[in-house]
Amino acid sequence: MKITEIEIFAINLPLIEPFIISYDTYDTMPSIIVKVSTDEGIVGYGEAVPDEHVTGETWESTYRVLKHQLAPTVLGQDPLSFEKIHELMDKTVYQVPAAKAAIDIACFDIAGKKLHVPVYQLIGGRYHEKFPITHVLSIGSPDKMANEAAERVAMGYRSFKMKVGTEVMKDVERIQAVREKVGDDIDIRVDVNQGWHNAATTLKGLRALRNVNLDWLEQPVDADDLDAMVEVKSKTDVTLMIDEGLHGAKEMREIIAKRAADKVNIKLMKCGGIYPAMKLANMAEMAGIECQVGSMVESSIGSAAGFHVAFSKKIMKSVELTGPLKFSKDVGNLHYDVPFICLNERPGLGIDVDENVIQELCHKSCIVR
Ligand code: MG
Repeated sequence: MKITEIEIFAINLPLIEPFIISYDTYDTMPSIIVKVSTDEGIVGYGEAVPDEHVTGETWESTYRVLKHQLAPTVLGQDPLSFEKIHELMDKTVYQVPAAKAAIDIACFDIAGKKLHVPVYQLIGGRYHEKFPITHVLSIGSPDKMANEAAERVAMGYRSFKMKVGTEVMKDVERIQAVREKVGDDIDIRVDVNQGWHNAATTLKGLRALRNVNLDWLEQPVDADDLDAMVEVKSKTDVTLMIDEGLHGAKEMREIIAKRAADKVNIKLMKCGGIYPAMKLANMAEMAGIECQVGSMVESSIGSAAGFHVAFSKKIMKSVELTGPLKFSKDVGNLHYDVPFICLNERPGLGIDVDENVIQELCHKSCIVR
């Protein structure tokens, strides 16, 4: 089988509510959808949701690098030759993991459709039957975050990921307010998105939170400061997760060597797709580090891809792929049984893509053949 044509769509996914995190506020999520066609008539879809703060890729740069470098590179290649496709892409352009993830995901969708199996069957088989969905609380006032959490508990949610990362003692108030409101039986994870910057500020926050039980604390310090994570880890018994500080194999090796975290957040958009994500999960597993599959708030396409990785690996302990629940309009039909998700057994990514919606949300598109 050969790749014969790649169509690239730059779209904007409309959010129901603005998504507010320490480094940005989003009213819509810019995304790039790729449609990869083959000489056997099998078509696969992939997605790139670049985040300039995390991988240095923008919506515009991702569209252009797909159009001018990556799509021409993989034209004529066998979409099932994952190792080779990644080698070719890596030789053509350094990094740009979100752009590479789009091609990788589309190739896995094609492979599953060709072999009549779900993607998880290609990467270890289904290990997890279902995953609980964590509700993400955007940064707001302590009252607003606590009230939203209470509403979600009434809907059946049992865990929250709180976005914080402003002034540390204000964040402490937010976390205390949510814990007081939801009681002790609900899991609370806190994602600082680097907002506390250094070890001293993080330790100050953790001291103030010593009576608040946290599942884990995610990326409190600057992404590039692995030594600060090591310092925090040596001075607290709170479970620590690295997110922005992990992209690919280079960072994973350093995290393992320095024992810098208990958990890591693997995202297809940071590492280049399903194939590299499986390599990272294997590295983490060998080092006894637990994994989560996180998201850049992707549509049904990118989210389904992340779920297939999560469902196939024992070391994946949690998932945070709730993009489709945040959009008022989506290009696919990934189904959630809120507050859980169970994947279906259909071939490939297991979703239907609605090209009318892609056209409706599309700002520009091109075909590479
Ligand atoms: Mg994070």
